Amino acid sequence: MTVERARTRLSEEEALRIGTEIQRRIGVKTSRQEPLARFTTLRVGGPADLFAEIRNLFELRAIVRYARTRDLPLLLLGRGSNLLISDAGVGGLVVHVRAQEVRVEGESLVADAGLPLAKAATVAKEAGLAGLEFGLAIPGTVGGAVWANAGAHLGEIRGVLASASVIRADGSEERLDPVALGMGYRECILKHDPPGRPQVVTSATFLLRPDDPAAIAARLDEIRQWRQAHQPLGIPSAGSWFRNPPGDSAGRIIDELGLKGRRVGGASVSMKHANFLVNDAGGSAADLWRLGREVREIVRRERGVELVEEVVRVGDWDEMEAGA
Ligand SMILES: Cc1cc2nc3c(=O)[nH]c(=O)nc-3n(C[C@H](O)[C@H](O)[C@H](O)COP(=O)(O)OP(=O)(O)OC[C@H]3O[C@@H](n4cnc5c(N)ncnc54)[C@H](O)[C@@H]3O)c2cc1C
Repeated sequence: MTVERARTRLSEEEALRIGTEIQRRIGVKTSRQEPLARFTTLRVGGPADLFAEIRNLFELRAIVRYARTRDLPLLLLGRGSNLLISDAGVGGLVVHVRAQEVRVEGESLVADAGLPLAKAATVAKEAGLAGLEFGLAIPGTVGGAVWANAGAHLGEIRGVLASASVIRADGSEERLDPVALGMGYRECILKHDPPGRPQVVTSATFLLRPDDPAAIAARLDEIRQWRQAHQPLGIPSAGSWFRNPPGDSAGRIIDELGLKGRRVGGASVSMKHANFLVNDAGGSAADLWRLGREVREIVRRERGVELVEEVVRVGDWDEMEAGA
């Protein structure tokens, strides 16, 4: 699991002062002690010291530069569909990326980082452009999908991404192609940024191919039906908890070990898909973390396989780990 170390928490006074300055300089409202659970698909996560929702790229660029120049720890939040946020919450500034402009230029689709990937897939279909259908299966944003090189149904971001605009560590904004982004199976250089100082995807350009909208619509329907049949939709989850080990399937191993239904507090291993940990009974981030750890230990003991979490753990886990 990618683990972010605890960030320095802001005091109430600091958060108030910084929030006021962000409102005055950038025109973006902030809130203090904003509970983050409702911004994640797992429905867990404590408060952010300071929270802002940005609705366009002007605001995104301005707030990222503001945080950078003041060394203010920053966490970007897309749709929170790959995040396990600690019950203690997140220090510094959390920016919810809601910039959602999208346009079609010839055979390219250009989307802001906050556009839901599923929306990009339907806009492409309406324009008679194929290649992004797999995005319907991924309940994240364009920015989160680039960060993860997300993929499904034999498609993945690097297969259709021409370039992503990225605010680099030095503050410059560059267009990077999948090679420059170091994309591999669920892999991208952005995953390795230091906690609190992420590089930021502002937009992405996808190069697609013309196709009959009816044929694209049929593929979208197939993906919709497959998900309904195989995934515990409607129950809070973060999708696949573990990466597939090389040449194998994490879900198959967990299922074979009889771990479906195993429970820690309000979290359990889904009965429908063994690689989904679900928050089906009002569980906490700690319940999910402990359950994932149990599954990993059983798989290691019984099969000698080291599972690696796909879900990224962020926020302040010190207290939880001290009492683990
Ligand atoms: C039911 C379900 C099914 C899923 N199925 C799949 C699947 O089939 N395939 C798959 O690959 N994934 C799947 N996922 C996981 C998840 O949807 C993807 O990883 C998705 O790409 C995450 O996007 P997000 O916007 O939710 O990112 P978040 O969870 O909000 O954030 C994830 C990481 O990306 C970073 N980030 C977000 N926005 C930006 C940005 N603009 N710039 C830089 N970094 C950013 C965040 O800081 C964080 O570190 C599934 C999840 C669920 C809940």
